[in-house]
Amino acid sequence: MTTPPALIDSHCHLDFPIFDVDRSEVMARAVSQGIQRFVVPGVARLQWTRLLELAKHYPQWYLAFGLHPYFTQEHVPADLMHLHEHLKAHPTALVGEIGLDVTCENWPLQQLLFQGQLDLASAFHRPIILHHRKSQDIMYPLVKNAVSRGCPGGVLHAFSGSYEQAMRWHALGFALGIGGTITYERARKTRDAVARVPLSALVLETDSPDMPVAGHQGERNEPVHVKQVLEALLALRPEAADQVIQQITCNTRRLLRC
Ligand SMILES: [Zn+2]
Repeated sequence: MTTPPALIDSHCHLDFPIFDVDRSEVMARAVSQGIQRFVVPGVARLQWTRLLELAKHYPQWYLAFGLHPYFTQEHVPADLMHLHEHLKAHPTALVGEIGLDVTCENWPLQQLLFQGQLDLASAFHRPIILHHRKSQDIMYPLVKNAVSRGCPGGVLHAFSGSYEQAMRWHALGFALGIGGTITYERARKTRDAVARVPLSALVLETDSPDMPVAGHQGERNEPVHVKQVLEALLALRPEAADQVIQQITCNTRRLLRC
């Protein structure tokens, strides 16, 4: 029997109230399957406080602070000032989850906050965790500009798209966050891209409690399912399992500094 490999869930919202009843059990289940680190992104200013409070109990958490487009109705421009303070106070924190989402409200405010957060990531040289929905092409030049000003890249969370899109982000210093999507056979374009890009372009994630893997639709997602995402990935890749795991863990630690 070999020791289970060390895996990282590069994107899970373990601080969300849906995990209040059994957070420690959820983490224990993941750890028992070799998932030993968890990147927990920020979504709104008031949530950062809760995130920091909970993180005191979980040294395996790696934090990001960001203003997520889903919560635009809670955000105000002055939140950028608070983000500045948080990044100053927490030198290891990343910037995320940030982005643009055409299905969310108040596009002008989304744009203002996204640009402001990219500016902070550039000034503080912090990696970013990007959320996108029908917005990759709008975000790309803005992110490229941030990279030219000091942002060291990061992760395009919940990647779905073509090989060409994947390679464009990878060339900019980003890995693609690979989650439940690839466990569905019907996700042909994304599965094809994930099969062909260099291994250095991939990190694993669950987006718990969202984005359930195939066979668990309608259920709360949790980090133990990194295992199923990994299995789906291994079935798509020509390399040996050990090589895939080692490279992906190395990508995640390098890009997200965890
Ligand atoms: Zn998320």
